[in-house]
Amino acid sequence: MHTKFRTYLFNFVHLVLLFVASNATAADVKDVRVAQQEGVTRLVFELSEASDHRLFPLSNPNRVVLDINGSKLDVAVASRLSALSSNVLSRVRFAQRETGVRFVLDLSRAAKAKSTVLSGNGTYGPRILIELEYGTSKPATVIKSLASLSKEKRDIVIAIDPGHGGKDPGALGQYKVREKDIVLSIAKELARRINNVEGFKAVLTRSTDKYLKLRDRSRVAREANADLMVSIHADAFTKSSARGASVWALSLSGKSSEMGRWLAQQENSADLVGGISLDDKDQLLAEVLLDMSMNSTIQMSLNIGESVLGKMKGVAHLHKNSVQQAGFVVLKSPDIPSILIETGFVSNKTEAKNLSSRTYRVKLAGSISTGIVDYFTRNAPDGTLLAWKQRGGDGSSYVVQKGDTLSNIARQNRVSLGALRQANGLTNDSIRIGQKLVIPAG
Ligand SMILES: [Zn+2]
Repeated sequence: MHTKFRTYLFNFVHLVLLFVASNATAADVKDVRVAQQEGVTRLVFELSEASDHRLFPLSNPNRVVLDINGSKLDVAVASRLSALSSNVLSRVRFAQRETGVRFVLDLSRAAKAKSTVLSGNGTYGPRILIELEYGTSKPATVIKSLASLSKEKRDIVIAIDPGHGGKDPGALGQYKVREKDIVLSIAKELARRINNVEGFKAVLTRSTDKYLKLRDRSRVAREANADLMVSIHADAFTKSSARGASVWALSLSGKSSEMGRWLAQQENSADLVGGISLDDKDQLLAEVLLDMSMNSTIQMSLNIGESVLGKMKGVAHLHKNSVQQAGFVVLKSPDIPSILIETGFVSNKTEAKNLSSRTYRVKLAGSISTGIVDYFTRNAPDGTLLAWKQRGGDGSSYVVQKGDTLSNIARQNRVSLGALRQANGLTNDSIRIGQKLVIPAG
């Protein structure tokens, strides 16, 4: 207890001493790159605008924390961060907080950390350069950038969780409709659709009428390394007039007790919670870290939920037009984005009839599938077949996606706008979705 207290005091002193200030405005963290040279690892954080930051080291285990004030992390960049490493950097973690993004650089050995602010020029926006010096070591010239990480071609894994089952029938509705049967049918159809899309793989928590504990449901998702967990349910209400489908994500306010449970479970265990090992932290710090990882997962869940809701709109009557938030236990997996879909009210005659119709269920599952696939197509996690394809398959070309601009593509691929124009014989900056661009070297 005493030792821990002293460590806190020590860290606090560091935090105050190493505060580095520049201009204060909102900034997007657009990219993170790592370069390994002899005895030093350099990380470059590319920003849309100059921003305050602070850097402070922590020991036992060795790590460096970088806070970029008022900043937001691009979702596509966030999904690729875990792949960054070097001779001294074992991984990069992050948390989106209200005050900005916090990056935690986990080190494999002690290193001296310093930061430099680089102002923007023609090709780059403002950058923060972090140098991790760890003395002389074997020379290495490995250069890793996010763009070069796309050699893996894994599937995007969607865990689909039909609610209830077995001894638990779920909601009982009109025409003797049982929630557990309807949601299983929709979930199976959704899985079939997802599996039909190249680069996607579905995993069902149950494919038969069996009872599953809530914990076992999230375990299936975690063991499959799921990119998303989708729980399928149907509502019932005392008033038969209540109707409409809805999409839910976890709310922050509902998470406290669940967090306590997680923490208790993780005590003296080396398991990871949201990519954060809790075994070497005490309770207070663990809680802070868990809170950080939940925040970022919830934001991603909300974005996926909006994409799904947008597609369901064409098939189902919606209860609410935006993603709602609540403290559902099945959603409380800090490390996997999760949504819960209430497909309709079985207590409402029209909806019970709809949900009993195979044609309707197939249509509904189709819309959910499209919403999920659309989201991940726009935000393909690095290391996936989808990301690999979007980069043209070999890293020397790039297929234009919705929302791209030529200057963003130039920046993301670390070439100058002029060189990109020249390599593709472009006389202006207009590009079209699906267009394949040659990415010139360097
Ligand atoms: Zn239910």
